[in-house]
Amino acid sequence: MKLGMVESDAGMRVVALNLDGKYVDLLALDTQIPPTLLGILADPEGLARVASALVTGWSKGPFVEGKLVSPITRCGKVICIGLNYRDHALETGAEIPSEPVVFNKFPSALIGPEDSVELPAIAHQVDYEAELVAVIGKGGKHIPKSKAFEHIAGYTCGNDVSARDWQKGRPGGQWLMGKTPDTFAPIGPWFVTADEVGDPHDLAISLRLNGQTMQQSRTSELIFGIDALVAHVSQLVTLEPGDLIFTGTPSGVGVARKPPVFLKSGDVMEVEIEGLGVLRNPVIAERRAE
Ligand code: MN
Repeated sequence: MKLGMVESDAGMRVVALNLDGKYVDLLALDTQIPPTLLGILADPEGLARVASALVTGWSKGPFVEGKLVSPITRCGKVICIGLNYRDHALETGAEIPSEPVVFNKFPSALIGPEDSVELPAIAHQVDYEAELVAVIGKGGKHIPKSKAFEHIAGYTCGNDVSARDWQKGRPGGQWLMGKTPDTFAPIGPWFVTADEVGDPHDLAISLRLNGQTMQQSRTSELIFGIDALVAHVSQLVTLEPGDLIFTGTPSGVGVARKPPVFLKSGDVMEVEIEGLGVLRNPVIAERRAE
């Protein structure tokens, strides 16, 4: 199933995408279904309820129209993994990590597939990073690698937008301010359930900037697979439904190019992952209240 959130005239609606490209209004189909995707993931019966409601709803609706927004907002955690593709670690001059490099973004950085990434006035080297994002379903702690996939509800495309001038050492050599400005975590267009994705470690992943391919790889190149990441993080941190894991980016980022390429107003980024769709975000200058 491909599930998402739509801002309609009637308010926010959780929807499923049918084969005709129409948005099935899940709450109108079954009032027992939680009104957000986060709520569906937090309900142990949530996805099963959606699936059974869709047996009739796929073709008959009811349907809703509107703007597709971030499938998940205000989740507990946005966990990110650095240097998780060998060729990307090499292009940045870093060593191949012997255990996962973990950092985070605030959930307030999340935006959806039709939203713009805003360039902060005080960041001058903003870059893109195409990433496969794993979405936690069942929560847990001390999850063994062998059971990790029982805790993954599905996947979406992500873009780990990064201000390199802040990431590399401002302040105190600490990454957070470079990684978590508002709008720096686009995800979408859809949350795709794990059963529909198949093997998440064998997907084509790419990023186009203004139509030109800048990153192109496969998730088979991940150094630490999704199961290893879940096991590693959950040794110390309780994972909860709707938590996101940005799994790392392949080579081809702007900062490693000669000459470097940084984002400017008017650019358009497209992250494409096999089976997950295209996450397209324009880039604009920061909007500020007068
Ligand atoms: Mn990244």
